[in-house]
Amino acid sequence: MAKHIFVTGGVVSSLGKGLTSASVGMLLERRGLTVRMQKLDPYINVDPGTMSPYQHGEVYVLDDGSETDLDLGHYERFTNSVLNRDSNYTTGQIYLSVITKERKGEFLGQTIQVIPHITNEIKAAVLKPAVPGVDVVITEIGGTVGDIESQPFLEAIRQMALDLGKENCLYIHLTLVPYLKAADELKTKPTQHSVGLLRQIGIQPDILICRSERSLTHEQRAKIALFCNVPIEAVIEEKDKTFSVYEVPLSLVEHGLDALIVRKLGLQTPEPDLTDWRELLERLRNPDHEVSIAVVGKYCEHRDAYKSIYEALDHGGIAHRARVRVQRIHSQQIESEGAEKLLAGVDGILVPGGFGERGIEGKVEAIRFARQQKIPCLGICLGMQCAVIEFARNVLGWAAAHSTEFNPATPHPVICLLDEQRNVTDKGGTMRLGAHPAVLATDSIAAQCYGKQEISERHRHRFEFNNDYRSEFAAAGMRIAGTSPDGMLVEIVELVDHPWFVAVQFHPEFKSQPIRPHPLFAGFVGAALRRRPARRDTTAQCQTA
Ligand code: GLN
Repeated sequence: MAKHIFVTGGVVSSLGKGLTSASVGMLLERRGLTVRMQKLDPYINVDPGTMSPYQHGEVYVLDDGSETDLDLGHYERFTNSVLNRDSNYTTGQIYLSVITKERKGEFLGQTIQVIPHITNEIKAAVLKPAVPGVDVVITEIGGTVGDIESQPFLEAIRQMALDLGKENCLYIHLTLVPYLKAADELKTKPTQHSVGLLRQIGIQPDILICRSERSLTHEQRAKIALFCNVPIEAVIEEKDKTFSVYEVPLSLVEHGLDALIVRKLGLQTPEPDLTDWRELLERLRNPDHEVSIAVVGKYCEHRDAYKSIYEALDHGGIAHRARVRVQRIHSQQIESEGAEKLLAGVDGILVPGGFGERGIEGKVEAIRFARQQKIPCLGICLGMQCAVIEFARNVLGWAAAHSTEFNPATPHPVICLLDEQRNVTDKGGTMRLGAHPAVLATDSIAAQCYGKQEISERHRHRFEFNNDYRSEFAAAGMRIAGTSPDGMLVEIVELVDHPWFVAVQFHPEFKSQPIRPHPLFAGFVGAALRRRPARRDTTAQCQTA
């Protein structure tokens, strides 16, 4: 039977519960255990797919096409846990399922209540990843203890220890120990209150992970242990990481977290082998080169809107022992100030995915600049579509070319709605989603990067390259470098007369790991590095991430 670890958070949000859970998952895997990761989100949306990136950051897409919370990106970057629809549940999804059953008459006349119907549904969701062969399921509860929306989830995980036996469940609470400058002290009271709230609902945490900007003294840990009713060895410090999120697992090992977890769960495992992870941190700490990449998007002011892209760029840097300095540039700023001013001096330009017309012209301009100046350029999803629009307008001379997403009446609809989307009206979960195979052209940059011709990548789009224009594009120097296996959907375009210009309809960023950098990101950063010695001008006036 699988063991269950529940990770809750207290005091404030944004403590890094996702990163901590991912780190725990990784450490247990390194101890030879088979782990499954799961996130329960208290919001009422059925999934985050319909939410603006300003709300919760990027929407993270899985192979099976589920649109999920960005914490699942941490899980996939840190672990090899297989993620699917059962890896992310929201309040909306739980209620939708219970109400659907009620309408079908499945409850035989009962009054439907939060306890037991909603909590039973949550418990069933928590048990789904516990398939045969899985040793540990780690379930992270979104939100903060005390939130109204979290209550049913906490009640459900409280019941799990009764159902499965306390020896099979472990509760980890992540909390904040703030430093008060005026008092020059770390304060333990918020942690005491937060654990108090958990205990009120019947959960006694087994382990406390204390986020803090300073190290905790033995006395402070002893005080927290006493007031929160845990042994002192179970008060684990997690100091802020200023350098890289990939430091988190190593620091948790130093404080004995993984050893404590396996002991408490009665699991016999070897010590974790972290050689490759230490090597990765060494590469990050002591880079041989530096490279500057502009990410030209419209959600640049939001730290998490392009989370996986920023991570994948770092991974691309790791592949070349290079520090990647990301310049987040708002595409609307390009519209007002010009690509020449804002992008001069960058070594590479990345245009990410997105929806809606705002900022489109700035993205198109950034791509024009990259094409003409021969700056390495990676276009992703909407970025690929903008590359096609730019080429149509400025190389083929079709000044009003556009995507029908933005101008349905354009005389040159070079990007148009996918056939399968024509009758779709619902917004939630209806795009072309998840993993689809593609075949690469032999002579393409993409095939060189991947080192093979058959690939599978994740998608999230409604629009596509309009096949009517293929021959005109190819004749003018934009090569179709990858298509769906039946040849019907264009997946990759490249410029022939350019050192490195690759634009893809899919989202490679979702499959990049620090120890396995994605080939396209590694290729892109490599091309940017090769360009670097040639460039002189470093006048980019951009915001640094
Ligand atoms: N809006 C575009 C489409 O739906 C691009 C989507 C994206 O970048 N994820 O096709």
